[in-house]
Amino acid sequence: MLSIEGLWKSFGKKEVIRGLDAEIYEKDIFVIIGPSGQGKSTILRLIDLLDSPTAGRIVLNGTEITALGERDQQQLRLKIGMVFQDPAIFRGSVYENVAYGLRFRKLSREEVHTRVMKVLKDVRLDGLEDRDARTLSGGEKHRVAFARTIVTQPELILMDEPTSDLDPVTTAIIEDLIRYIRDTYQVTIILSTHDMFQGQRLGDRIAVMMGGVFIQTGTPKEVFTSPNNREVAYFIGFENI
Ligand code: ADP
Ligand code: MG
Repeated sequence: MLSIEGLWKSFGKKEVIRGLDAEIYEKDIFVIIGPSGQGKSTILRLIDLLDSPTAGRIVLNGTEITALGERDQQQLRLKIGMVFQDPAIFRGSVYENVAYGLRFRKLSREEVHTRVMKVLKDVRLDGLEDRDARTLSGGEKHRVAFARTIVTQPELILMDEPTSDLDPVTTAIIEDLIRYIRDTYQVTIILSTHDMFQGQRLGDRIAVMMGGVFIQTGTPKEVFTSPNNREVAYFIGFENI
């Protein structure tokens, strides 16, 4: 559903993405794994059309989205949902925070209500709709951010290190929720993490990012049982190569 072909991105003289290729399949959870500073957020921002590549193409369902004009890109971004690493929670109730994602879509008040209440149930925040969202716990705030994204019914959801600041118990709850979202909404999810084991737990396919490219892509089993070079082996903790 998404192809990345020969993607480059430089900031000034610094080449962060260096000829990256990837194929992401429909309804997969595709996990980008790499140490911090490798360019994971940069790739997600390029896919979300928040930034444009120095070279290369991103093709979504046959459309070269990186070549579209600004207006078409804005239209297309309605099909892509992004959950940022540190999601902004707005002043106001949980309900208003989730309904915000629908503000730019011309929907009736009833439809907004139906959709928001259903999604709040999916992320297990039902009953909290009137709470001031800023008084929620870290894990609950992440669920608000997920709800705000899935309520718009995107085809593709991007999640940038969705559990990096959460404790292990909350992380497990969020990981369950990510699988549940994929299964319920039949959506494709691309998420980034610096945690190899999170990749192993969540990914249908995983990509190990180093030096500005995916140095290995495959199922967790493929990558963990036969790392294709020393750097991957080192990163996943193989002692003897
Ligand atoms: P990761 O998400 O894997 O931690 P990032 O994609 O955030 O990595 O960043 C990769 C590199 O690109 C870092 O060295 C970062 O400083 C640099 N970078 C990211 N965005 C910008 C920007 N807008 N301007 C300059 N450098 C940037
Ligand atoms: Mg990042």
